[in-house]
Amino acid sequence: MAVALDWLGVATFRLTVDGLTIFLDAYMDRVPAAPPVGLSTATVDRADFVLIGHSHFDHLWGAERIARNTGATVIGSHESVRLMVNEEVPEAQLIAVAGGERVRLSDSVTVRVFPSQHSCIWARAGAADEVCLGDRGLTLQERQVNLQERAGRRFNADTPAMAEVKAHRQASDQRPRGEGGALAYLIETPEGSILWKDTSGHWTGVLRDLRPDVALLAAAGRGNVDGEPIQGSLAQFVAREAEMLRPRRIVLSHHDDWMPPVTRPVDISPIREELVRQASYTELVEMDYREGYPILSNVR
Ligand SMILES: [Zn+2]
Repeated sequence: MAVALDWLGVATFRLTVDGLTIFLDAYMDRVPAAPPVGLSTATVDRADFVLIGHSHFDHLWGAERIARNTGATVIGSHESVRLMVNEEVPEAQLIAVAGGERVRLSDSVTVRVFPSQHSCIWARAGAADEVCLGDRGLTLQERQVNLQERAGRRFNADTPAMAEVKAHRQASDQRPRGEGGALAYLIETPEGSILWKDTSGHWTGVLRDLRPDVALLAAAGRGNVDGEPIQGSLAQFVAREAEMLRPRRIVLSHHDDWMPPVTRPVDISPIREELVRQASYTELVEMDYREGYPILSNVR
């Protein structure tokens, strides 16, 4: 059974399993200044399912075009599904989940859905090896004030590149209610299992018993551990996830320069080093866009 994985930027992947094409997130139509990923939603001509990790534009936007062009079924939170209804994706192509479901994708492939956590976008974050402390115990209202202040600083430059970012943000704004609830997915195939999370957060009690063969982990921002920002670095957060999951292989995502000049690429070398120290049984696959990587070969 052939299993191939393409990274398409941010946390978007295309997984091909025995002829079944599954998109993990749908964001690939980016600002002109972002490095091209080799595929756009307009050129996707085959998709059976689109799994959505959460409702932010850099994950969900594009799912409606893939669904319309290919007839694919979109699986996501009730909020992601609500936004797809607004985009006039037929109800028959939508499956709303909240965690706890096992969805059949084909005769041989199923996906289990788990509740997850979004990274702490409202808290201070730094480079992958920068230890960030504090920001604990804040109320939702205090977090929202912090988030607005941070957003104001990020988008205030008056340059042509920023004008493109603002136009892109307007075009991609489906008016989500926040992130709409973050989800993790465990895709189970006869060749092995793949856990995919599209943002740096988790519930410890959910992750620690899953034991996937492969983990696709987001590496960006300030990690969220059980609802509070990690007191440590992003590299330590990723290593913590690796220790709990004990996968044979890890692929990172969300570390690319996906919306310059607002984003900067994450230097993943501290993550590579931390994984060698704390999870040496795991192979870190450093993937470029659209590699068609045989992700499940020799994982067992
Ligand atoms: Zn997000």
